[in-house]
Amino acid sequence: MSTATTAQAGATGAIPFDNSYARLPDAFFTPVDPTPVEAPMLIAFNRPLAEELGLDADRLERHGAGYFSGNVALPGSLPLAMAYAGHQFGQFVPQLGDGRAILLGEVIDRNGKRRDIQLKGAGPTPYSRRGDGRAALGPVLREYIISEAMHALGIPTTRALAAVATGQPVYRDRVLPGAVFTRVAGSHIRVGTFQFFAARGDTENVRVLADHVIDRHYPALKGAEKPYLALLDAVADRQASLIAKWLGVGFIHGVMNTDNMTISGETIDFGPCAFMDRYDPRTVYSSIDRNGRYAFGNQPGIGQWNIARLAEAMLAILDDDQDKAVEAANVAVSRFMERFQAHWTRTIRAKIGLGDDAREEDQELIRELLVTLYEQKADYTLAFRRLADCAQDDAADPALGTLLEDPTALTPWLSAWRARLAQEATAPAARAGAMRRVNPAFIPRNHKVEEALNAAIDDGDFSLFAALNDVLARPYEDQPRFAAYALPPEPGEEIAATFCGT
Ligand code: AMP
Ligand code: MG
Repeated sequence: MSTATTAQAGATGAIPFDNSYARLPDAFFTPVDPTPVEAPMLIAFNRPLAEELGLDADRLERHGAGYFSGNVALPGSLPLAMAYAGHQFGQFVPQLGDGRAILLGEVIDRNGKRRDIQLKGAGPTPYSRRGDGRAALGPVLREYIISEAMHALGIPTTRALAAVATGQPVYRDRVLPGAVFTRVAGSHIRVGTFQFFAARGDTENVRVLADHVIDRHYPALKGAEKPYLALLDAVADRQASLIAKWLGVGFIHGVMNTDNMTISGETIDFGPCAFMDRYDPRTVYSSIDRNGRYAFGNQPGIGQWNIARLAEAMLAILDDDQDKAVEAANVAVSRFMERFQAHWTRTIRAKIGLGDDAREEDQELIRELLVTLYEQKADYTLAFRRLADCAQDDAADPALGTLLEDPTALTPWLSAWRARLAQEATAPAARAGAMRRVNPAFIPRNHKVEEALNAAIDDGDFSLFAALNDVLARPYEDQPRFAAYALPPEPGEEIAATFCGT
């Protein structure tokens, strides 16, 4: 980076950085500048997010190609690559780290919340191993679409601030256009960040990291009697809640390695993720997940497994007496499933229009619906969306039936469901409205995402990408003009596999 460009950017004052991670001990990161690219072009900029972050959106957009490619340093940024470790598909890798991501720094947003701004694909770092530090356009657009869709669905997630085409090729299984993605997160601290220090026997830095995380994400725990144990419980609860929300919308993360699980409870890493069309808990899209480890229905169990890895990494600070630490860790891990069940019960009850007054027989009602949807190969999203119509008027039942192999397969269930609903005071129209606020009409359908990506990659046409983002910004509204985006793939349109975003 030349001094001239840095000085020029310094005059803009576009971003008021306050970089707390850069103030942590040296072992936490390595300072590294982005590597400039040849011909940066801004292809997407998230103005509402820039405003939420309290940034000068006009200025950022005007100079977006330079800033969001890494060619022009943002004033006040302290670019660095974070160190972390992680279990990848069950295998521990003691050193991963940001191999193609560079943290520019942190800002305090309009709600007083600290947010990371990070470039992804901005060039190699000391953690790149054999990678090129770059990202291809397809995965960048994919992360943009899906992370913003997740946000609109009301699911905690990292966000998309910008995407820039680099004008340079990247070499994967074929030559692809390169791009840089700008990601915003509550933080990029992962389960794997704790594992990095634990694996080195560096208890002091495990503690420093835990204190940083408590300050940043769980300030209410500061006064707790055992703050680190409370932290473990709190992270477990946020992850249990997050995974319940994923299941509620049919989201399959695809690569739930411990380095892809945040401590903040935000969804991160949209490499091979996908939304399920037909309901089947065994659904896997990721081409690198050969054994289905991260299949749709396995996600709660994997969440618990990852929390067990976090508990191990925190063991040395949970209690001075290591026997007691192990015992406390075991309790925290075993409680994960109860936490998940509680969150999931709330999610699925809302999806079928039931209030908080849970009854014993409701479990069976829920189970029967899911079994029928599975047996009947029903589209998960549309089935629940149409069920909202059925809550209002039984004239809508046939439209739900068309999603099933046997259109009458849900008839007995619908009677039982209505009998149960009749025991609650809510009026049908109000119930249907509430159901439409939790059962989306629009999810990022794989075939629509693929179509938008292909138009961008093959023809430089970003119009489908823009249209898809627009539709997905209001997932709970019917938007009749965009009805085609709500439909499952036709035979032949199905996407069998997604590829890792590297
Ligand atoms: P992921 O599969 O995206 O979670 O990445 C796993 C690890 O590989 C992380 O340490 C990444 O930083 C690193 N990595 C992925 N792609 C690249 C790349 N193109 N260049 C360098 N490092 C990469
Ligand atoms: Mg990752």
